[in-house]
Formats: sequence, structure tokens, C-alpha cells
Amino acid sequence: MRDKIKVGIIICDRYHTCAGGKCLRAFHNREGAFSIYKEDQELELVGYTTCDGCPGGNIEYAPQEMVKNGAQVIHLATGMIVGYPPCPYLTYFRDFIQEKYGIKVVIGTHPIPQKYFLTHTKLGTWKSPEWEEILRPTLCDERTR
Ligand code: SF4
Repeated sequence: MRDKIKVGIIICDRYHTCAGGKCLRAFHNREGAFSIYKEDQELELVGYTTCDGCPGGNIEYAPQEMVKNGAQVIHLATGMIVGYPPCPYLTYFRDFIQEKYGIKVVIGTHPIPQKYFLTHTKLGTWKSPEWEEILRPTLCDERTR
């Protein structure tokens, strides 16, 4: 039997009308941050919601619901990385969810779109060792972006 991993996704509320196209495509194709899973691991999406707007009130509660549905990993969507500005609470959210709910949190979902990559590179937004670490799963190569 294939190993099954249950995943929840929390997106930035600035993109609350997003239908999840890029995240779900990456989820099914194992791209971006979903490339961390092995081919023989089955992925199941057990929750998808927004942070509920700054400063992210839903981060306190949504993971609980996802955990009740069996979530073992929560992905904080790539929109939190690429927004203008990136979410200022990103690493706090990661640390809080991990500490409070004892589950793994991965920053990112789909590959960073090239247009955001170019603008943030010009702005110097991601010029730090901490950002390099955050971007690793979703930066991908130019063709994928
Ligand atoms: S910037 Fe952060 S806190 Fe604000 S809406 Fe986006 S994810 Fe939520």
C-alpha cells in the first residue's frame, strides 16, 4: 500500500478569490514545494483556507480543523512569499503552527511565478540567508517558473 500524506493549505487572504489553480496543479504534479514528497507517497488534500486577512486570525484556528481531518503537513501558500510585500508573519505562522499543533509546516506551494521573481529580485526583497532558505522549495528553474 502507498504511504499517504494528508496536507492542508493556507493561503494569503489578499488572494482570497483565488480558485487554487496553481497550488492544486503543483499539488498534483509534485512541483514547487510539493516536490519534497516521494513519488511513491500519495498526497491527499484535507483542507484549504485563507489566513483571514492581516494579521492572520485564522492561523490560530484553521490548523486545528485540518489536524482533525488528519493533516500531517500544512503548506503556507507561495502567495505569502511573493506578495507585495511578502507576508511579514510568515516565519511566525510556521513556528506557531508547528509549536501549537505539533505538525510539520512547509513554506510554499506552487513554483514562484517568473514575474514575481523578476520584481522581487529588482527590489532586493529576498536578499538574505533566511530568504534563501525559505525560497529553496519554490524557486525552481526559470522554465518551471
Ligand atoms: S500578508 Fe500575511 S497576514 Fe496579511 S493577509 Fe497575507 S498571509 Fe495573511
